Amino acid sequence: MSAVDAVVVGSGPNGLAAAITMARAGLSVTVLEGDDLVGGGCRTQEATLPGFRHDVCSIAHPLVMASPFFRHPSFDGLRERLRQPEVPFAHPLGGETATAAHRSVDETAATLGADAAAYRRLFSPLVEHADQIADAVLAPLRTLPDHPVTVGRFGLAGLLPVQALSRRFRSAEARALLAGVSAHSMSPLTAPLTAAFALLLTVLAHAQGWPVAEGGSATLTDAMVAELERLGGTVSTGHWVGSLDEVPRATAVLFDTSPKGLAAIAGDALPTRYTRALGRFRYGPGVCKVDWALSGPVPWSAAVCRRAGTLHVGGTAAEVAASEAGVWAGRHPARPYCLVVQPGVADPSRAPAGRQTLWAYCHVPSGSTVDMTGAIEQQIERFAPGFSDLILARATRTAAQEELADPNYVGGAITGGAATLRQTMFRPTMQWNPYRTPLAGVYLCSASTPPGAGVHGMCGVFAARTALHDLFGGGSPFDAH
Ligand SMILES: Cc1cc2nc3c(=O)[nH]c(=O)nc-3n(C[C@H](O)[C@H](O)[C@H](O)COP(=O)(O)OP(=O)(O)OC[C@H]3O[C@@H](n4cnc5c(N)ncnc54)[C@H](O)[C@@H]3O)c2cc1C
Repeated sequence: MSAVDAVVVGSGPNGLAAAITMARAGLSVTVLEGDDLVGGGCRTQEATLPGFRHDVCSIAHPLVMASPFFRHPSFDGLRERLRQPEVPFAHPLGGETATAAHRSVDETAATLGADAAAYRRLFSPLVEHADQIADAVLAPLRTLPDHPVTVGRFGLAGLLPVQALSRRFRSAEARALLAGVSAHSMSPLTAPLTAAFALLLTVLAHAQGWPVAEGGSATLTDAMVAELERLGGTVSTGHWVGSLDEVPRATAVLFDTSPKGLAAIAGDALPTRYTRALGRFRYGPGVCKVDWALSGPVPWSAAVCRRAGTLHVGGTAAEVAASEAGVWAGRHPARPYCLVVQPGVADPSRAPAGRQTLWAYCHVPSGSTVDMTGAIEQQIERFAPGFSDLILARATRTAAQEELADPNYVGGAITGGAATLRQTMFRPTMQWNPYRTPLAGVYLCSASTPPGAGVHGMCGVFAARTALHDLFGGGSPFDAH
């Protein structure tokens, strides 16, 4: 007899989504979290000064809006607590010049001069079917899509390197807009699939926005924990699992860990061939992250940047490309591409009245111990002179420290694994069902499985469905949601 039906190791969004999916099927579920705080990449802490609430990891949530998991009615209240910046993302280009993705395709196109028609041609048909695209992309791509024409149109353009997609545009503004948003992939902009990042994230900006959670990303975790507890599940923190012997007896065990973590925990119980395959998994570059407490809003020179939630800071498309190529080649760029989020534009609860929090990271080589605070601050200062004078306090985590804070971020890679063509289809190993491990009853459910990085919970959902199918008489794991 098992003490519980299912144990989930790790309480990130995928671990909690897996636990909720199992509990909704009527099973008893326990989540074991090593950290003192539940939530993994969805935590909020006063990392700088009292009263300043900083998102430790994730902050911008287009994928929550898109995810079938979060569309469940139990999250209606949560969706009401997502706060929309007026402008989803902007990209300063020097002086008062900037480019931005506004909520409407037409408004965005109107800022792109001669590229207006090309922008509308590319994005309008995709935005019209944003839900169909999101459903296809937030799945393991193992079944024919329900809407093959829309998904085919997205897929054909998305397979390209973003630099090839950008040739449809002539202006520096349009090219920078695409380069900045595609660099979320943490890949060189010459790599296949970087266009898919640009298309998906821009489509979501237009269709549903890039919100932040009121009070911080911990609000998402709180809602998931509340739903799990409502269903009878439990979460226990401060409970690191170092070996299979430390996992309570259960019919199913789901690991919200990296492949490296799973291999260390399961040790010799895993066949050598599988352990070697896990060892070949590529994590990609890391990030150096900085949080600031500020005495006021960032004084961006370009007005549109002052209204945007997310800023892609790094100059022209060519500069962004050079920064990303450098990181991929193992270098620390002097002028890094930086992802900056100012949640205060939509959520004043993050800081005491009149004050602001600011969140940023830049990409660095895997495992880097280099503190990039100075380079990131110089990049922001370049487009927002006077920024440095507002700094009340800061907290920095190098890529190596990212992994110490959450072992899933191997070498500081926040994606759960490099977004190469192969690893997008098959992560972490070349298996049709990548959630299964060779050990009966043991599954992997983290962002190192499809559909990969981001706060959407769908890795957990598909892993749980696989366990339900294998062990509890559930239906096919990859059926329509
Ligand atoms: C700096 C940063 C910025 C990000 N920004 C965004 C963003 O803006 N938007 C977005 O959508 N995504 C963002 N992400 C990515 C997103 O946070 C992750 O993709 C997501 O959290 C992955 O969820 P997960 O459940 O797979 O793993 P995680 O969220 O990493 O959770 C794993 C959990 O398992 C625990 N754990 C691991 N090993 C063990 C063990 N042996 N025993 C017990 N517990 C264990 C960890 O402590 C952790 O709590 C960001 C990530 C980082 C780090």
